[in-house]
Amino acid sequence: MAEYDFDLFVIGAGSGGVRAARMAANLGAKVAIAEERYLGGTCVNVGCVPKKLFVYGSSFGEEFEDASAFGWSSDAPRFDWPTLRDNKTREIERLNGIYEGLLTGPGVEIFETTATFVDPHRLKVGTREVTAAKILIATGSWPTVPSFPGSDLVITSNEAFYLDRFPERVLVVGGGYIAVEFAGIFNGLGAQTTLSYRGELFLRGFDVGIRSFALDEVRKKGIDVRLESNVTQVEKRGDVFKTTFASGETIDTDLVMYATGRTANTKGLDLEQSGVATRSNGSIPVDDEYRTNVPHIYAIGDVIGRAQLTPIAIAEGMCIAYNVFNDESRRINYDLIPTAIFCQPNIGTVGPTEDEARALYPELTVYESSFKPMKHTLSGRDERTLMKILVDGASDRVVATHMCGPDSGEIIQGLAVAITAGATKAQFDATVAIHPTAAEEFVTMRESVR
Ligand code: NDP
Repeated sequence: MAEYDFDLFVIGAGSGGVRAARMAANLGAKVAIAEERYLGGTCVNVGCVPKKLFVYGSSFGEEFEDASAFGWSSDAPRFDWPTLRDNKTREIERLNGIYEGLLTGPGVEIFETTATFVDPHRLKVGTREVTAAKILIATGSWPTVPSFPGSDLVITSNEAFYLDRFPERVLVVGGGYIAVEFAGIFNGLGAQTTLSYRGELFLRGFDVGIRSFALDEVRKKGIDVRLESNVTQVEKRGDVFKTTFASGETIDTDLVMYATGRTANTKGLDLEQSGVATRSNGSIPVDDEYRTNVPHIYAIGDVIGRAQLTPIAIAEGMCIAYNVFNDESRRINYDLIPTAIFCQPNIGTVGPTEDEARALYPELTVYESSFKPMKHTLSGRDERTLMKILVDGASDRVVATHMCGPDSGEIIQGLAVAITAGATKAQFDATVAIHPTAAEEFVTMRESVR
């Protein structure tokens, strides 16, 4: 057998790559990792973590307003963007250091540079060439902006985290997780916010009842959501961006942000030298154990084009480490992925949508509850919460729960344990409520609506 410099070489130190590298090293493998940009990848640097910090930041405006009904008064609150932006950046830098420690602790060698394939076992890493018995591609994804006149003038989520100036007016284009979350952030922080989505209802793929409920809630917050809206061009006039829509309408804003999906990061790897095949969109097809068509080269995370979610990349990284270096055969169940959209109010969901469940379970029973959160009985805020439980009537198993309301992500995480464990509606009903909470609705809904 050939001698290699490393047992495993990981390209990309994001959530998945770091987890695979450190677990493999803990299992005794000689591991190296290359990262050309930032340790921790998208999630830590320009994704989940700074986004959530911004979501917290953007929620205070309403908190100040609501507080008055509870007897609090203070001077009119002011928002200072550089404070939020720079405090966030300091926290990200702290996390970068933690990620470095997570790698060096178990002995992973870090190359802070680009890695490209020279041949299927050999990589050029900066000025060096190294060989590895196994190679893991965990290079993630990058925001995609479609091509149109003025597309070079728009920003993506990458830049939104580091804006020099906070915009007074902003246009966000897209209707997925990132567009809806950032529209909420900009709006909450005080920008006049417009969200333009090309389809009939944003958040395609989620439960339709939750989507239309969320649309109402988001509009109530003051976001101008424009549906079936298509941008044809963006022009810059002085400091102002003039966006023209297919309808002929125009809008002037200080910023245009596109959140129209993320594309697998495979360009620049010289993949042709490795023999690894890609799909036409650049993502890498893999088998159940994350092998590419070249058996000793693996790929995980956003780059394989399955679920672009940090916990999935981490789970895939664990699979690789244990399957390759501990002779296990772990698999991930992609059918039951809990997820949250941190719009305001949040959406949390686990299991199929009502339409999908109806096709899967002919005896589907739907329980639904919509109410005003208790806090708003005093604050008077016009905000509601929607919760849904989907039950397979044949087995009484709860197959999905969906929620739009404060803390949905937190609440659905616990329910995901119950659903993963196969809990029945009778067991939900037998669970003692925690009163008064919003979450107790999930164990007190008795009358089905459909
Ligand atoms: P998504 O794929 O979720 O959404 C892309 C949106 O852009 C869709 O609404 C899509 O419309 C629209 N779109 C695509 N192409 C065009 C185009 N050419 N012109 C106009 N609109 C277009 O991508 P995001 O960028 O929002 O996020 C990427 C991924 O990151 C998500 O899928 C998610 O997995 C992950 N993520 C997860 C988060 C979380 O867990 N909270 C947070 C943020 C991101 P249509 O629906 O019609 O196709």
